[in-house]
Amino acid sequence: MTELKNQVCPFCKEKTLTLIEETYNISHFGRCFLMSMNCTSCNYNSSDVEAEERKPPTKQTFALENKKDLNVRVVKSSEATVRIPQLKMEVTPGIASSGYISNIEGVLLRFKKIIEKERDDTDEPEVKKQAKNLLKKLWKAELGEFPLKIIIEDPSGNSAIISDKTEVVKLR
Ligand SMILES: [Zn+2]
Repeated sequence: MTELKNQVCPFCKEKTLTLIEETYNISHFGRCFLMSMNCTSCNYNSSDVEAEERKPPTKQTFALENKKDLNVRVVKSSEATVRIPQLKMEVTPGIASSGYISNIEGVLLRFKKIIEKERDDTDEPEVKKQAKNLLKKLWKAELGEFPLKIIIEDPSGNSAIISDKTEVVKLR
């Protein structure tokens, strides 16, 4: 792990930015680097992951069927789109998009946080009800009682769902 402290933050220009680079060795994916930036003055926070070896752009589909599947490793770059079609949910690349190394459980948790925020921020009873409904489905999915598909599409090739069960389609 390399850590560089007291760097100039690109946003607030204070010398309070910390840069961290970590190297991971992931089976069936290879060496990759997780880079993160964090500024203690303005709370700017970002991270991304990059594979050492150049990989083709892919669409990877994983069927979550049981609790064991929650442990499946996931590498997701900031350029990836993550979709759960059954819940009509999608996270697309954007300014706030970050890359991470996690597992299926971690991916579901990120979706959960988005929905929880939506539920807490809204005054619309209909939106609240829908959010609660989605949370219930995610909770069931975690227990292996609600099978769902998780799709990660990455034009940069820096994303993967590491399992024999993953369907991988190359994108043009
Ligand atoms: Zn800053």
